[in-house]
Amino acid sequence: MYDLLSIDADKFNNPCYIEQRVALAEEKLRGSLRTCLAYLYKDDGPVNLPRKRLLDARPYLEPAELVLVQWLYTRTNGKLRKTYGAESLKAARAARYRCSVCRFADVRVLNLDHVHGKVQGTPFACLCANCHAIKSRQFDWMQPVDPQTETQSASNNLADFPQ
Ligand SMILES: [Zn+2]
Repeated sequence: MYDLLSIDADKFNNPCYIEQRVALAEEKLRGSLRTCLAYLYKDDGPVNLPRKRLLDARPYLEPAELVLVQWLYTRTNGKLRKTYGAESLKAARAARYRCSVCRFADVRVLNLDHVHGKVQGTPFACLCANCHAIKSRQFDWMQPVDPQTETQSASNNLADFPQ
């Protein structure tokens, strides 16, 4: 069994907590760490993270924060910015880095789901891998099998279930 890698709820919107963390950093890196923690934990915090600030802050981040910041940076500043962007960060932050359906808290299994497909400006849901897979396949059981592509396995065909 793996240890849970999660984020405590009391870190959010807590300026004292951020300043305690910042005080432990090398002086010239404090500004970057403050920005990075505000990006992760403040509802009105920055919605993107310049690469230099991310790199400066990394040595002072905890394991769950390192996973999160890499996952989010790719979506707000990196190569997935056009299909995700600031709204995806806001959704993950508002969900407190937990699954919006079952509240599972391990940051390694979180997905940002496009609620209405990959359309710019539409909302996102923060879901764990299980809830995301169930949502994606929630109507599979009533779709007919396509004989051309056989997109559904035989075991999904109702005729195969024991009576
Ligand atoms: Zn879930």
